[in-house]
Amino acid sequence: MDQNNGATAGTLYVVATPIGNLEDMTFRAVRVLKEVDAIAAEDTRHTGQLLKHFHIQTPQISCHQHNETRRIPELLEKLRQGQAIALVSDAGTPGISDPGVPLISACIAAGIPVVPVPGACAAISALVASGISLTRFSFEGFLPVKGKERRNALEQLAQDSRTVVLYEAPHRLVATLTDLAAAVGENRRVAIARELTKRYEAVWRGSLADSVTEWSYADEYGLTLKGEFVLVLEGAIACEKAAISDDQLLEELQQLIDQGVSKSRASRQLAQDHGLSKRQVYDLSLQLGDASSP
Ligand code: SAM
Repeated sequence: MDQNNGATAGTLYVVATPIGNLEDMTFRAVRVLKEVDAIAAEDTRHTGQLLKHFHIQTPQISCHQHNETRRIPELLEKLRQGQAIALVSDAGTPGISDPGVPLISACIAAGIPVVPVPGACAAISALVASGISLTRFSFEGFLPVKGKERRNALEQLAQDSRTVVLYEAPHRLVATLTDLAAAVGENRRVAIARELTKRYEAVWRGSLADSVTEWSYADEYGLTLKGEFVLVLEGAIACEKAAISDDQLLEELQQLIDQGVSKSRASRQLAQDHGLSKRQVYDLSLQLGDASSP
């Protein structure tokens, strides 16, 4: 039985949509959204713009955390009657720090097939651009904002040997970097991915200590930090393994200085390579008595 011009009847499709760049919409996502009977959307106005761009005329049903207790039974009924439904969130993959999991779980419990249509996800995009180990990683999403829950989460991160992915709001970025540095050690490497796939996409990489200095500028100048951010934090063991003795560091500094690199540049480069603070490496470089410029 196939009432849906291609989409399989009575199936929930979990469809990823772009996280900023519309070119990241997949051919399959467009086809499925055209073929299903209805699209369950986190925000119908937001998704409406995406649908308009891709000339998709499928009707939408709003489904978000505030109305899902009412919506889920309605959607299950439609699915049982043979309708195909797509679930989308405002951006990226539904269920990843987004609504969707209660509907997916309800479908599974009711024996309704759930089919993923993969695509953009800010966490995965940030991970691959981070330069930090991808062998084992964990996804934390947004850290609890305050109190014991936040302290507990930070304590756990200090022990976690896996690379950790965090989402953070711009106005909390510096506070979170500061808390991370205090909880897990300021030498841990971090990658800060901003505005992925968009015009002002940038990935900053360095130690937690340097990240606080680097990203505090907005607070210092009374500016509001804007954009969307993902943090990729090096795991505990990876950080220990990367530890380098002062003697080794001095040797590497000397090699660079002998090649004509200034102490300041050599310190910056080695700080980045080893996840150390620039200040720490530069202070060490002052022990090297040579005539090179700072
Ligand atoms: N479901 C989405 C996904 O698959 O990535 C995540 C939705 S969550 C409500 C929104 C958070 O994801 C943002 O606050 C930010 O941390 C991260 N995010 C989403 N889009 C991003 C982008 N283009 N660049 C950087 N971070 C992004």
